[in-house]
Amino acid sequence: PLILGIETSCDETGIGIVRGTTLLANTIASSMEEHARYGGVVPEVAARAHLEALGPTIRAALDEASVTLAEVDAIAVTSGPGLAGALMVGVGAAKALALALDVPIYAVNHLVGHVGADLLDTAAPLETPTVALLVSGGHTSLLLVRDLVSDVELLGETIDDAAGEAFDKVARLLGLPYPGGPEIDRAAIGGDPRAIRFPRGLTQPKDLAAHRYDFSFSGLKTAVARWVEQREAAGEPVPLADVAASFREAVADVLVTKAVAACTELGVPRLLLGGGVVANARLRELATERADAAGIALRIPPLSLCTDNGAMIAALGAQLVMAGHPPSTLDFGADSTLPATEIQVAARMP
Ligand code: ATP
Ligand code: MG
Ligand code: FE
Repeated sequence: PLILGIETSCDETGIGIVRGTTLLANTIASSMEEHARYGGVVPEVAARAHLEALGPTIRAALDEASVTLAEVDAIAVTSGPGLAGALMVGVGAAKALALALDVPIYAVNHLVGHVGADLLDTAAPLETPTVALLVSGGHTSLLLVRDLVSDVELLGETIDDAAGEAFDKVARLLGLPYPGGPEIDRAAIGGDPRAIRFPRGLTQPKDLAAHRYDFSFSGLKTAVARWVEQREAAGEPVPLADVAASFREAVADVLVTKAVAACTELGVPRLLLGGGVVANARLRELATERADAAGIALRIPPLSLCTDNGAMIAALGAQLVMAGHPPSTLDFGADSTLPATEIQVAARMP
């Protein structure tokens, strides 16, 4: 089936077009630059940017895929989680399109969409069960995906800041611009990752009982801030490369440690990475090393499918269609806190 996917949960307006698992278009307009001077995504600005970008982005995606709207068999749209105002823009557009074209609509989960991205553009697509580590500016979640369209379990998530958010906040306190991830990656080159032992959140035995697969990054951010302050108070220079490398090491270490532990403890020899933080050089390296050592098959989709995009939403929609799931009824809305276990919302009773 030919599916058009719409993603507007954060600052990317993503339109994807897929035929089954074949990627035809993945068009993205981002309002990231507009948020740069605020040091993070401003919900109101993001929602307005989606409103302006949707029309042109849909048109560009149709051109890229060389298809017309009349050929589209179904619409898929992100219903949540994400920024409520931003989600609502995509949901409204998707409903209007589905009504006008008289095609079914599938309201889907953004997090599960990140997993669905791995079906596209690959000779050896996603196998289940798999553990999935999703790391971006808005979420840090560890999922157990037994079946993409029917069985997703949330193993753990961040209890405070998301991993990408930690990069953005630490970059800011180091005087680096937004978004912080790529800046810290660059600043870390040549730095010593063992120079400073920054804390690994929720890895102590006392934390593990209740938070085995959960993450915490706000203590790490505070530790970096303290360390830098003490240096400055002592009138000593701040070794930027060492701080960046040591901070990056702490984030990558805790993410990979918990993800690999989940695979091992649950007997699932597959790990999928998704989200914008996957661009991080050290995270990729450490994940590759430790997955190899543990006999875990590691999958990292191309970065254009790791950051927020419409193709992954279309891919998940296509899977639902092909599995014979009923479409969503038009009474669904935007759910900013949609749990990962809800793969599709408002599925019509058969
Ligand atoms: P959502 O959370 O809804 O997926 P988002 O826009 O926050 O939305 P992405 O666009 O997938 O998520 O990712 C952006 C985040 O990824 C930012 O926090 C950014 O700092 C981080 N990031 C990008 N490149 C890197 C990198 N090389 N290393 C670490 N973090 C990075
Ligand atoms: Mg983004
Ligand atoms: Fe995302």
